[in-house]
Amino acid sequence: MSYQPAIGLEIHVELKTKSKMFCSCLNDPDEKQPNVNICPVCTAQPGTLPVINEEALRKVIKTGLALNCQISKHSQFDRKNYFYPDLPKGYQISQLYRPLCKNGYLEIGGKKVRIREIHLEEDTGKLIHPEGADYSLVDFNRAGIPLMELVTEPDLASAQEARAFAQELHLIMHYLDVSDADMEKGQMRVEVNISLSSGSKLGTKVEIKNLNSFRSVERGVNFEIERQEKLLRAGKKVIQETRGWHDVKEITFSQRAKEEAHDYRYFPEPDLPPLHLAKILVDGIRAEMPELPQKRRARLRREYGIEENNVEILIYHKDLGEYFEKIISEFPARLAPEKLLRLVKLAANYLISDLQGLLKGSSIKDKNFLISPDNFADFIGLIERGDISSKIAKVVLEEMLKSGADPSHIIREKGLAQITNEKEIEQAVQEVIAKNPKAIEDYKNGKQNALQFLIGQAMAQTRGKADPAILTKIIRSAII
Ligand code: ADP
Ligand code: ZN
Ligand code: MG
Repeated sequence: MSYQPAIGLEIHVELKTKSKMFCSCLNDPDEKQPNVNICPVCTAQPGTLPVINEEALRKVIKTGLALNCQISKHSQFDRKNYFYPDLPKGYQISQLYRPLCKNGYLEIGGKKVRIREIHLEEDTGKLIHPEGADYSLVDFNRAGIPLMELVTEPDLASAQEARAFAQELHLIMHYLDVSDADMEKGQMRVEVNISLSSGSKLGTKVEIKNLNSFRSVERGVNFEIERQEKLLRAGKKVIQETRGWHDVKEITFSQRAKEEAHDYRYFPEPDLPPLHLAKILVDGIRAEMPELPQKRRARLRREYGIEENNVEILIYHKDLGEYFEKIISEFPARLAPEKLLRLVKLAANYLISDLQGLLKGSSIKDKNFLISPDNFADFIGLIERGDISSKIAKVVLEEMLKSGADPSHIIREKGLAQITNEKEIEQAVQEVIAKNPKAIEDYKNGKQNALQFLIGQAMAQTRGKADPAILTKIIRSAII
Protein backbone atom coordinates (compact mmCIF):
# COMPACT_ATOMS: atom_id res chain seq x y z
CA MET A 1 0.00 0.00 0.00
CA SER A 2 1.33 3.43 -0.82
CA TYR A 3 0.49 6.64 1.00
CA GLN A 4 -0.03 9.97 -0.72
CA PRO A 5 1.02 13.09 1.18
CA ALA A 6 -1.32 16.12 1.13
CA ILE A 7 0.25 19.36 2.28
CA GLY A 8 -1.34 22.75 2.90
CA LEU A 9 0.52 25.89 3.92
CA GLU A 10 -0.37 28.80 6.14
CA ILE A 11 2.07 31.63 5.57
CA HIS A 12 2.35 34.87 7.54
CA VAL A 13 4.15 37.80 5.97
CA GLU A 14 4.92 41.13 7.66
CA LEU A 15 4.10 43.91 5.24
CA LYS A 16 6.54 46.67 4.37
CA THR A 17 4.67 49.84 5.27
CA LYS A 18 5.72 53.12 6.79
CA SER A 19 3.47 52.80 9.83
CA LYS A 20 1.72 50.07 11.77
CA MET A 21 -1.65 48.54 10.90
CA PHE A 22 -3.91 50.62 13.13
CA CYS A 23 -1.79 53.50 14.45
CA SER A 24 0.89 55.86 13.19
CA CYS A 25 3.84 54.20 14.98
CA LEU A 26 6.80 53.36 12.76
CA ASN A 27 6.89 49.90 11.24
CA ASP A 28 10.62 49.38 11.62
CA PRO A 29 11.70 45.73 11.55
CA ASP A 30 15.32 46.72 12.25
CA GLU A 31 14.66 48.60 15.48
CA LYS A 32 16.99 47.22 18.16
CA GLN A 33 15.71 49.22 21.15
CA PRO A 34 12.66 47.62 22.78
CA ASN A 35 9.41 49.58 23.17
CA VAL A 36 10.25 52.68 21.18
CA ASN A 37 7.76 52.31 18.32
CA ILE A 38 4.73 52.17 20.57
CA CYS A 39 1.75 54.37 21.41
CA PRO A 40 -1.53 54.18 23.34
CA VAL A 41 -3.22 52.39 20.39
CA CYS A 42 -0.77 49.53 19.87
CA THR A 43 -0.35 49.06 23.63
CA ALA A 44 -4.14 49.00 24.06
CA GLN A 45 -4.72 51.87 26.45
CA PRO A 46 -8.39 52.33 27.35
CA GLY A 47 -10.31 54.71 25.10
CA THR A 48 -8.07 54.37 22.05
CA LEU A 49 -9.43 53.48 18.62
CA PRO A 50 -7.77 51.83 15.61
CA VAL A 51 -7.53 53.44 12.15
CA ILE A 52 -6.98 51.25 9.07
CA ASN A 53 -3.66 51.58 7.22
CA GLU A 54 -4.58 52.02 3.54
CA GLU A 55 -1.12 51.06 2.30
CA ALA A 56 -1.37 47.66 4.02
CA LEU A 57 -4.75 47.11 2.42
CA ARG A 58 -3.36 47.94 -1.01
CA LYS A 59 -0.45 45.57 -0.54
CA VAL A 60 -2.69 42.64 0.32
CA ILE A 61 -4.90 43.38 -2.70
CA LYS A 62 -1.79 43.60 -4.89
CA THR A 63 -0.64 40.20 -3.62
CA GLY A 64 -4.12 38.80 -4.22
CA LEU A 65 -4.11 40.03 -7.80
CA ALA A 66 -0.64 38.58 -8.38
CA LEU A 67 -1.94 35.23 -7.11
CA ASN A 68 -5.04 35.15 -9.29
CA CYS A 69 -7.45 35.73 -6.39
CA GLN A 70 -10.91 37.21 -6.35
CA ILE A 71 -10.79 40.49 -4.47
CA SER A 72 -13.77 40.79 -2.15
CA LYS A 73 -16.14 43.68 -2.85
CA HIS A 74 -17.11 43.62 0.79
CA SER A 75 -14.62 42.82 3.48
CA GLN A 76 -14.33 43.39 7.21
CA PHE A 77 -12.12 42.92 10.24
CA ASP A 78 -12.95 40.52 13.06
CA ARG A 79 -11.75 40.10 16.61
CA LYS A 80 -9.89 36.93 17.48
CA ASN A 81 -9.97 36.69 21.25
CA TYR A 82 -7.29 35.01 23.31
CA PHE A 83 -5.06 35.82 26.22
CA TYR A 84 -1.32 35.99 25.89
CA PRO A 85 1.12 38.51 27.42
CA ASP A 86 2.43 39.64 24.00
CA LEU A 87 -1.12 40.62 22.94
CA PRO A 88 -1.98 43.79 24.85
CA LYS A 89 -5.63 44.09 23.78
CA GLY A 90 -6.48 40.50 24.70
CA TYR A 91 -7.60 40.06 21.09
CA GLN A 92 -6.01 40.30 17.68
CA ILE A 93 -7.73 42.23 14.91
CA SER A 94 -7.87 39.75 12.04
CA GLN A 95 -10.26 38.61 9.31
CA LEU A 96 -12.35 35.45 9.46
CA TYR A 97 -15.73 35.94 7.80
CA ARG A 98 -14.83 38.11 4.83
CA PRO A 99 -11.12 38.03 3.98
CA LEU A 100 -9.78 40.49 1.41
CA CYS A 101 -8.82 37.85 -1.19
CA LYS A 102 -10.17 34.40 -2.01
CA ASN A 103 -9.87 31.51 -4.46
CA GLY A 104 -6.54 32.15 -6.12
CA TYR A 105 -3.73 29.90 -7.24
CA LEU A 106 -0.01 29.81 -7.84
CA GLU A 107 1.52 27.53 -10.43
CA ILE A 108 4.41 25.43 -9.19
CA GLY A 109 6.13 23.25 -11.76
CA GLY A 110 3.11 23.45 -14.05
CA LYS A 111 0.66 22.51 -11.28
CA LYS A 112 -1.95 24.89 -9.91
CA VAL A 113 -1.80 25.10 -6.14
CA ARG A 114 -5.06 26.61 -4.96
CA ILE A 115 -4.98 29.52 -2.53
CA ARG A 116 -8.01 29.48 -0.26
CA GLU A 117 -7.66 33.03 1.03
CA ILE A 118 -5.37 35.91 1.91
CA HIS A 119 -6.34 38.09 4.83
CA LEU A 120 -4.95 41.01 6.78
CA GLU A 121 -4.28 41.12 10.51
CA GLU A 122 -1.85 42.59 13.03
CA ASP A 123 1.29 41.05 14.50
CA THR A 124 1.80 40.48 18.22
CA GLY A 125 4.59 41.78 20.45
CA LYS A 126 7.53 39.64 21.43
CA LEU A 127 8.30 37.96 24.73
CA ILE A 128 11.89 37.68 25.92
CA HIS A 129 12.81 35.20 28.63
CA PRO A 130 16.17 36.18 30.17
CA GLU A 131 18.09 33.08 31.12
CA GLY A 132 17.80 32.14 34.78
CA ALA A 133 15.40 35.00 35.53
CA ASP A 134 12.03 34.44 37.22
CA TYR A 135 10.34 37.02 34.98
CA SER A 136 9.81 37.65 31.28
CA LEU A 137 10.13 40.86 29.31
CA VAL A 138 7.84 42.10 26.60
CA ASP A 139 8.70 44.23 23.58
CA PHE A 140 5.74 45.86 21.81
CA ASN A 141 7.65 47.25 18.81
CA ARG A 142 6.22 44.45 16.69
CA ALA A 143 2.70 44.71 18.15
CA GLY A 144 0.37 46.01 15.46
CA ILE A 145 2.67 45.56 12.48
CA PRO A 146 0.55 44.68 9.42
CA LEU A 147 0.57 40.94 8.89
CA MET A 148 -0.79 39.16 5.84
CA GLU A 149 -1.84 35.53 6.12
CA LEU A 150 -2.15 33.28 3.10
CA VAL A 151 -3.79 29.86 3.31
CA THR A 152 -3.49 27.22 0.59
CA GLU A 153 -5.64 24.19 -0.06
CA PRO A 154 -3.84 20.88 0.67
CA ASP A 155 -2.72 20.61 -2.97
CA LEU A 156 1.02 20.16 -2.45
CA ALA A 157 2.23 16.58 -2.73
CA SER A 158 5.85 16.62 -1.58
CA ALA A 159 8.42 18.42 0.54
CA GLN A 160 10.07 19.80 -2.60
CA GLU A 161 6.77 21.24 -3.82
CA ALA A 162 6.12 22.83 -0.44
CA ARG A 163 9.56 24.41 -0.49
CA ALA A 164 9.17 25.55 -4.10
CA PHE A 165 5.83 27.18 -3.25
CA ALA A 166 7.32 29.07 -0.31
CA GLN A 167 10.30 30.20 -2.40
CA GLU A 168 8.18 31.35 -5.31
CA LEU A 169 5.90 33.25 -2.96
CA HIS A 170 8.92 34.86 -1.36
CA LEU A 171 10.12 35.98 -4.77
CA ILE A 172 6.71 37.40 -5.66
CA MET A 173 6.66 39.42 -2.40
CA HIS A 174 9.98 40.85 -3.44
CA TYR A 175 8.84 41.72 -6.98
CA LEU A 176 5.67 43.34 -5.63
CA ASP A 177 7.70 45.13 -2.96
CA VAL A 178 5.07 44.22 -0.38
CA SER A 179 7.54 42.70 2.11
CA ASP A 180 11.21 41.94 2.54
CA ALA A 181 9.95 38.55 3.77
CA ASP A 182 13.26 37.77 5.48
CA MET A 183 12.66 34.40 7.11
CA GLU A 184 15.54 34.74 9.53
CA LYS A 185 14.01 37.94 10.87
CA GLY A 186 10.60 36.28 11.10
CA GLN A 187 9.13 38.50 8.39
CA MET A 188 7.87 35.39 6.63
CA ARG A 189 6.68 32.46 8.76
CA VAL A 190 5.58 29.19 7.26
CA GLU A 191 3.36 26.62 8.93
CA VAL A 192 2.80 23.35 7.13
CA ASN A 193 -0.11 20.93 7.49
CA ILE A 194 0.55 17.37 6.44
CA SER A 195 -1.52 14.24 6.19
CA LEU A 196 -1.12 10.90 4.47
CA SER A 197 -3.86 8.93 2.79
CA SER A 198 -4.12 5.74 0.81
CA GLY A 199 -7.45 6.56 -0.81
CA SER A 200 -9.33 9.60 -2.03
CA LYS A 201 -10.26 10.85 1.45
CA LEU A 202 -7.63 13.01 3.16
CA GLY A 203 -6.03 11.66 6.30
CA THR A 204 -5.62 13.28 9.71
CA LYS A 205 -3.41 16.33 9.50
CA VAL A 206 -0.57 17.45 11.67
CA GLU A 207 0.59 21.05 11.78
CA ILE A 208 4.27 22.01 12.08
CA LYS A 209 5.26 25.43 13.39
CA ASN A 210 8.58 27.30 13.77
CA LEU A 211 9.95 26.52 10.33
CA ASN A 212 12.21 29.49 9.78
CA SER A 213 14.01 28.66 6.57
CA PHE A 214 13.15 27.07 3.23
CA ARG A 215 15.45 24.24 4.11
CA SER A 216 13.61 23.48 7.34
CA VAL A 217 10.28 23.57 5.46
CA GLU A 218 11.57 20.81 3.21
CA ARG A 219 13.20 18.80 5.98
CA GLY A 220 10.26 19.22 8.35
CA VAL A 221 7.81 17.93 5.76
CA ASN A 222 10.01 14.97 4.90
CA PHE A 223 10.46 14.08 8.54
CA GLU A 224 6.75 14.24 9.15
CA ILE A 225 5.89 12.15 6.06
CA GLU A 226 8.22 9.43 7.31
CA ARG A 227 6.94 9.60 10.87
CA GLN A 228 3.31 9.34 9.80
CA GLU A 229 4.03 6.56 7.33
CA LYS A 230 5.70 4.49 10.04
CA LEU A 231 2.71 4.94 12.34
CA LEU A 232 0.23 3.95 9.62
CA ARG A 233 2.25 0.93 8.52
CA ALA A 234 2.32 -0.24 12.15
CA GLY A 235 -1.48 -0.05 12.18
CA LYS A 236 -1.47 3.00 14.47
CA LYS A 237 -3.34 6.27 14.09
CA VAL A 238 -1.95 9.73 13.43
CA ILE A 239 -3.30 12.11 16.04
CA GLN A 240 -4.28 15.62 15.03
CA GLU A 241 -1.86 17.96 16.77
CA THR A 242 0.52 20.87 16.46
CA ARG A 243 4.18 19.95 16.37
CA GLY A 244 7.27 22.12 16.65
CA TRP A 245 10.42 21.83 14.56
CA HIS A 246 13.77 21.33 16.25
CA ASP A 247 16.25 23.00 13.93
CA VAL A 248 19.36 21.29 15.31
CA LYS A 249 18.04 17.77 15.83
CA GLU A 250 15.90 18.08 12.66
CA ILE A 251 12.88 16.43 14.20
CA THR A 252 9.30 17.45 14.91
CA PHE A 253 7.94 17.16 18.46
CA SER A 254 4.45 17.37 19.90
CA GLN A 255 3.41 20.79 21.18
CA ARG A 256 -0.33 20.63 21.66
CA ALA A 257 -3.15 18.26 20.79
CA LYS A 258 -6.40 19.18 19.05
CA GLU A 259 -8.37 19.00 22.34
CA GLU A 260 -6.40 21.93 23.64
CA ALA A 261 -7.26 24.00 20.56
CA HIS A 262 -8.51 27.52 21.29
CA ASP A 263 -11.99 28.79 20.88
CA TYR A 264 -11.29 32.29 19.67
CA ARG A 265 -14.86 33.61 19.97
CA TYR A 266 -14.54 35.56 16.75
CA PHE A 267 -16.93 38.46 16.12
CA PRO A 268 -16.90 41.46 13.74
CA GLU A 269 -14.60 44.23 15.00
CA PRO A 270 -16.98 46.92 16.25
CA ASP A 271 -14.37 49.70 16.25
CA LEU A 272 -13.74 49.50 12.49
CA PRO A 273 -16.12 50.13 9.59
CA PRO A 274 -16.79 47.39 7.03
CA LEU A 275 -14.79 47.78 3.83
CA HIS A 276 -16.34 48.36 0.43
CA LEU A 277 -13.62 47.95 -2.13
CA ALA A 278 -14.51 50.00 -5.17
CA LYS A 279 -13.66 48.56 -8.59
CA ILE A 280 -11.70 51.69 -9.39
CA LEU A 281 -9.38 51.07 -6.41
CA VAL A 282 -8.70 47.47 -7.43
CA ASP A 283 -8.24 48.43 -11.10
CA GLY A 284 -5.77 51.11 -10.05
CA ILE A 285 -3.72 48.56 -8.12
CA ARG A 286 -3.89 46.14 -11.03
CA ALA A 287 -2.53 48.83 -13.34
CA GLU A 288 0.57 49.23 -11.13
CA MET A 289 1.39 45.53 -11.24
CA PRO A 290 5.01 44.87 -12.24
CA GLU A 291 6.12 41.97 -14.40
CA LEU A 292 6.09 38.90 -12.15
CA PRO A 293 8.82 36.25 -11.88
CA GLN A 294 7.04 33.54 -13.87
CA LYS A 295 6.39 35.83 -16.80
CA ARG A 296 9.90 37.22 -16.75
CA ARG A 297 11.41 33.75 -16.53
CA ALA A 298 9.51 32.65 -19.64
CA ARG A 299 10.54 35.83 -21.47
CA LEU A 300 14.25 35.47 -20.61
CA ARG A 301 14.20 31.93 -21.99
CA ARG A 302 12.21 32.79 -25.08
CA GLU A 303 13.81 36.08 -26.07
CA TYR A 304 17.43 35.44 -25.19
CA GLY A 305 17.82 31.69 -24.95
CA ILE A 306 19.74 32.02 -21.69
CA GLU A 307 20.72 28.82 -19.96
CA GLU A 308 18.52 27.66 -17.12
CA ASN A 309 20.89 28.31 -14.20
CA ASN A 310 21.52 31.84 -15.34
CA VAL A 311 17.83 32.51 -15.86
CA GLU A 312 17.20 31.59 -12.22
CA ILE A 313 19.99 33.87 -11.03
CA LEU A 314 18.72 36.80 -13.08
CA ILE A 315 15.21 36.18 -11.73
CA TYR A 316 16.32 35.77 -8.13
CA HIS A 317 18.51 38.90 -8.24
CA LYS A 318 15.78 41.12 -9.63
CA ASP A 319 17.99 44.22 -9.90
CA LEU A 320 20.64 42.30 -11.77
CA GLY A 321 18.01 40.94 -14.16
CA GLU A 322 16.70 44.42 -14.87
CA TYR A 323 20.21 45.73 -15.42
CA PHE A 324 20.90 42.83 -17.76
CA GLU A 325 17.95 43.76 -19.94
CA LYS A 326 19.06 47.40 -20.06
CA ILE A 327 22.46 46.23 -21.29
CA ILE A 328 20.88 44.09 -24.01
CA SER A 329 18.82 47.05 -25.17
CA GLU A 330 22.09 48.98 -25.67
CA PHE A 331 23.42 46.50 -28.24
CA PRO A 332 22.94 47.86 -31.74
CA ALA A 333 19.64 46.90 -33.34
CA ARG A 334 19.89 44.78 -36.50
CA LEU A 335 22.84 42.63 -35.53
CA ALA A 336 23.25 39.20 -37.05
CA PRO A 337 21.30 36.83 -34.75
CA GLU A 338 24.37 34.68 -33.96
CA LYS A 339 26.36 37.74 -32.99
CA LEU A 340 23.56 39.03 -30.78
CA LEU A 341 23.31 35.64 -29.14
CA ARG A 342 27.04 35.68 -28.40
CA LEU A 343 26.79 39.16 -26.90
CA VAL A 344 23.82 38.19 -24.74
CA LYS A 345 25.58 35.10 -23.47
CA LEU A 346 28.74 37.03 -22.66
CA ALA A 347 26.73 39.74 -20.91
CA ALA A 348 24.95 37.15 -18.76
CA ASN A 349 28.21 35.43 -17.87
CA TYR A 350 30.11 38.61 -17.06
CA LEU A 351 27.25 39.90 -14.93
CA ILE A 352 26.72 36.67 -13.06
CA SER A 353 30.25 35.46 -12.47
CA ASP A 354 32.55 38.46 -12.73
CA LEU A 355 30.49 41.45 -11.68
CA GLN A 356 28.66 39.62 -8.90
CA GLY A 357 32.01 38.45 -7.56
CA LEU A 358 33.42 41.98 -7.56
CA LEU A 359 30.31 43.41 -5.91
CA LYS A 360 30.81 41.09 -2.94
CA GLY A 361 27.17 41.14 -1.95
CA SER A 362 26.54 44.87 -2.41
CA SER A 363 23.83 45.71 -4.90
CA ILE A 364 23.88 47.39 -8.28
CA LYS A 365 21.02 49.49 -6.88
CA ASP A 366 23.54 51.18 -4.54
CA LYS A 367 24.30 54.83 -5.21
CA ASN A 368 27.99 54.11 -5.67
CA PHE A 369 27.45 51.57 -8.41
CA LEU A 370 28.73 53.59 -11.35
CA ILE A 371 28.69 51.38 -14.43
CA SER A 372 26.04 52.56 -16.88
CA PRO A 373 24.32 49.88 -19.00
CA ASP A 374 25.73 51.67 -22.03
CA ASN A 375 29.31 51.26 -20.78
CA PHE A 376 28.72 47.66 -19.83
CA ALA A 377 27.39 46.95 -23.32
CA ASP A 378 30.50 48.55 -24.85
CA PHE A 379 32.65 46.42 -22.57
CA ILE A 380 30.91 43.23 -23.74
CA GLY A 381 31.35 44.38 -27.34
CA LEU A 382 35.13 44.70 -26.84
CA ILE A 383 35.32 41.15 -25.49
CA GLU A 384 33.15 39.72 -28.25
CA ARG A 385 35.31 41.31 -30.97
CA GLY A 386 38.43 39.94 -29.28
CA ASP A 387 39.76 43.44 -28.66
CA ILE A 388 40.56 42.49 -25.07
CA SER A 389 41.38 39.11 -23.58
CA SER A 390 39.41 37.70 -20.69
CA LYS A 391 42.32 38.52 -18.42
CA ILE A 392 42.36 42.19 -19.43
CA ALA A 393 38.57 42.21 -19.26
CA LYS A 394 38.78 41.51 -15.53
CA VAL A 395 41.11 44.47 -15.01
CA VAL A 396 38.91 46.75 -17.10
CA LEU A 397 35.77 45.68 -15.23
CA GLU A 398 37.40 46.38 -11.89
CA GLU A 399 38.36 49.86 -13.09
CA MET A 400 34.87 50.48 -14.43
CA LEU A 401 33.45 49.54 -11.05
CA LYS A 402 35.81 51.99 -9.33
CA SER A 403 35.45 54.99 -11.60
CA GLY A 404 32.42 54.42 -13.82
CA ALA A 405 34.57 55.42 -16.80
CA ASP A 406 33.88 53.94 -20.21
CA PRO A 407 35.96 50.89 -21.10
CA SER A 408 37.78 52.35 -24.13
CA HIS A 409 38.92 55.26 -21.98
CA ILE A 410 40.24 52.90 -19.32
CA ILE A 411 42.07 50.81 -21.91
CA ARG A 412 43.78 53.89 -23.33
CA GLU A 413 44.53 55.44 -19.95
CA LYS A 414 45.97 52.27 -18.41
CA GLY A 415 47.79 51.07 -21.53
CA LEU A 416 45.76 47.88 -21.67
CA ALA A 417 45.23 47.82 -25.42
CA GLN A 418 45.89 44.52 -27.12
CA ILE A 419 49.35 43.97 -28.60
CA THR A 420 49.03 42.92 -32.22
CA ASN A 421 52.55 43.93 -33.23
CA GLU A 422 54.22 40.63 -34.18
CA LYS A 423 57.74 41.85 -33.35
CA GLU A 424 56.74 42.74 -29.84
CA ILE A 425 55.05 39.37 -29.29
CA GLU A 426 57.98 37.53 -30.88
CA GLN A 427 60.29 39.13 -28.34
CA ALA A 428 58.16 37.95 -25.40
CA VAL A 429 58.01 34.46 -26.89
CA GLN A 430 61.80 34.28 -27.26
CA GLU A 431 62.29 35.25 -23.61
CA VAL A 432 59.88 32.55 -22.47
CA ILE A 433 61.54 29.94 -24.68
CA ALA A 434 64.95 30.80 -23.29
CA LYS A 435 63.70 30.37 -19.74
CA ASN A 436 61.87 27.06 -20.28
CA PRO A 437 64.04 24.47 -22.06
CA LYS A 438 62.30 21.64 -20.17
CA ALA A 439 58.83 22.57 -21.44
CA ILE A 440 60.11 22.71 -25.00
CA GLU A 441 61.60 19.26 -24.70
CA ASP A 442 58.32 17.98 -23.25
CA TYR A 443 56.45 19.46 -26.17
CA LYS A 444 58.77 17.80 -28.62
CA ASN A 445 58.13 14.51 -26.80
CA GLY A 446 54.45 14.93 -27.54
CA LYS A 447 53.15 16.57 -24.35
CA GLN A 448 50.36 18.92 -25.44
CA ASN A 449 50.14 20.46 -21.95
CA ALA A 450 53.58 21.94 -22.45
CA LEU A 451 52.28 24.11 -25.29
CA GLN A 452 49.48 25.46 -23.10
CA PHE A 453 52.03 26.17 -20.41
CA LEU A 454 54.27 28.12 -22.79
CA ILE A 455 51.33 30.12 -24.15
CA GLY A 456 50.37 30.97 -20.59
CA GLN A 457 53.90 32.10 -19.76
CA ALA A 458 54.19 34.24 -22.89
CA MET A 459 50.78 35.76 -22.22
CA ALA A 460 51.88 36.62 -18.69
CA GLN A 461 55.08 38.11 -20.12
CA THR A 462 52.90 40.58 -22.11
CA ARG A 463 50.76 41.10 -19.01
CA GLY A 464 47.83 39.44 -20.74
CA LYS A 465 47.80 41.91 -23.58
CA ALA A 466 49.04 39.84 -26.54
CA ASP A 467 46.52 38.97 -29.20
CA PRO A 468 45.99 35.27 -28.36
CA ALA A 469 45.75 34.11 -31.99
CA ILE A 470 48.98 35.81 -33.01
CA LEU A 471 50.75 34.65 -29.87
CA THR A 472 49.76 31.02 -30.43
CA LYS A 473 50.86 31.14 -34.07
CA ILE A 474 54.26 32.59 -33.14
CA ILE A 475 54.89 30.08 -30.35
CA ARG A 476 53.97 27.14 -32.54
CA SER A 477 56.31 28.17 -35.31
CA ALA A 478 59.09 28.99 -32.83
CA ILE A 479 59.26 25.61 -31.08
CA ILE A 480 58.69 23.16 -33.92
P1 ADP B 1 -8.19 23.96 10.70
O1 ADP B 1 -9.66 24.12 10.75
O2 ADP B 1 -7.64 22.88 11.53
O3 ADP B 1 -7.47 25.27 10.84
P2 ADP B 1 -8.25 24.25 7.89
O4 ADP B 1 -9.23 23.49 7.10
O5 ADP B 1 -8.58 25.68 8.19
O6 ADP B 1 -7.92 23.48 9.21
O7 ADP B 1 -6.87 24.22 7.10
C1 ADP B 1 -5.70 24.78 7.61
C2 ADP B 1 -4.59 24.37 6.68
O8 ADP B 1 -4.42 22.97 6.70
C3 ADP B 1 -4.82 24.72 5.21
O9 ADP B 1 -3.59 25.12 4.65
C4 ADP B 1 -5.28 23.43 4.59
O10 ADP B 1 -4.88 23.34 3.24
C5 ADP B 1 -4.53 22.41 5.42
N1 ADP B 1 -5.26 21.15 5.53
C6 ADP B 1 -6.55 20.97 5.86
N2 ADP B 1 -6.85 19.66 5.92
C7 ADP B 1 -5.72 18.99 5.59
C8 ADP B 1 -5.37 17.60 5.47
N3 ADP B 1 -6.25 16.64 5.71
N4 ADP B 1 -4.11 17.32 5.12
C9 ADP B 1 -3.21 18.27 4.89
N5 ADP B 1 -3.47 19.57 5.00
C10 ADP B 1 -4.69 19.94 5.36
ZN1 ZN C 1 1.25 52.54 17.96
MG1 MG D 1 -8.28 27.14 9.91
